[in-house]
Amino acid sequence: MTLARSEAVPDTSPFGFRQGSFDVTVLSDGHFALPAAIVAPEATPDQWLDIERRLGGSAGTIRAHANIPLIQAGDDLILIDLGGGGKFQPTEGRLASSLAAAGHDREAITKVLLTHAHPDHVWGLLGIDDRPRFPNASYYVGAAEWDFWMDPDFTSSRPSVLHAFAIGAQRDLSAVRERIVLVQDGDDILPGLQAIATPGHTHGHMSYALAGPETLVVTGDVVTNQIVSFEHPAWRFGNDTDQEVGANTRQRFVDRAAVDRLLLLGYHFAYPGLGRVERSGNEYRYVPAHV
Ligand SMILES: [Zn+2]
Repeated sequence: MTLARSEAVPDTSPFGFRQGSFDVTVLSDGHFALPAAIVAPEATPDQWLDIERRLGGSAGTIRAHANIPLIQAGDDLILIDLGGGGKFQPTEGRLASSLAAAGHDREAITKVLLTHAHPDHVWGLLGIDDRPRFPNASYYVGAAEWDFWMDPDFTSSRPSVLHAFAIGAQRDLSAVRERIVLVQDGDDILPGLQAIATPGHTHGHMSYALAGPETLVVTGDVVTNQIVSFEHPAWRFGNDTDQEVGANTRQRFVDRAAVDRLLLLGYHFAYPGLGRVERSGNEYRYVPAHV
């Protein structure tokens, strides 16, 4: 039987490369389905069919990957985001096996940097025994992200559509409360590894820049799709908490990525998610860097 393109299983074995003084290995947490209403609610039916075809999607959904960089920096072993732990959709939650395939123990992780506290990025924090999966790590999160999700009055003061996300974020972040480091825009996590505030997808969303011959930015969800986020950066994204701020931040980020020739590592791009942005006039295009 020949698999349709959307059903084919991509090769997601650990993908390693050198970035300045860092060794980076992209680990897959798997993938999950996202519908048109979230990915591109402003697309016309014809535009959506084109997007779906180019992404190998089907039946009104596309496959969102979950690409997690593991960074070796001196004695530090760092993860950026933790995936969904299999609690979000059954096709994600592969981080632990990908880490083992790369030859590392979860006890060896010294730092976890969170871009934000959505399920597909943080619900992998706890194992099935409800204990932290990376027990020796410090956990870095944007100060505004912490304040937003950890508000004890969240369920009485925020829209009900966010309640399940908040309950999960409070469960996971509370479990490592003693190990939390709050981060502001421009903070250096290590020499050459810097937090960049990219708000809108969530209030305290952070991306992380790694110095090298070209700066590498681990984007998180400031850009979420290698077609829609670049070719239509002004479109609303259904899961942005503040859609106006999200669209403004995304447009500035995409333009800067093109002008500054940034290397990007996109969490949800086709594995392993490395690419650059090309600008032609006012139009942008994502170009994979790993093929
Ligand atoms: Zn995400």
